[in-house]
Amino acid sequence: MATTSLLAGLLINEMTSQGLSVIMDFQLATCPYCGNRHPKLVHRLFGNRVICTKCHAVGPDRKSGDLARYDWNRQSRELAFEKSIKNQQLLAHLSRLSRLSR
Ligand SMILES: [Zn+2]
Repeated sequence: MATTSLLAGLLINEMTSQGLSVIMDFQLATCPYCGNRHPKLVHRLFGNRVICTKCHAVGPDRKSGDLARYDWNRQSRELAFEKSIKNQQLLAHLSRLSRLSR
């Protein structure tokens, strides 16, 4: 999967003239809060973090851009997983309720 997105990132890189930043942005996971597919990695004086340009969610501050990206992606996966569990529990609950009301 990482290889696929890297290849796609390289393809996009060839189509644009924005260089490495396009590849790095492409490898960032979708924002877990609003679904924005293009969060940005921001380099700051005392750290790096990923921010969502739509809902302004902020990833953890890390020493390197790679770490900031890694933690953003991990957080995104964990929140998506948690959301899917909650949805499954809600569906099971609704299904029980509808069986009871018959
Ligand atoms: Zn967002």
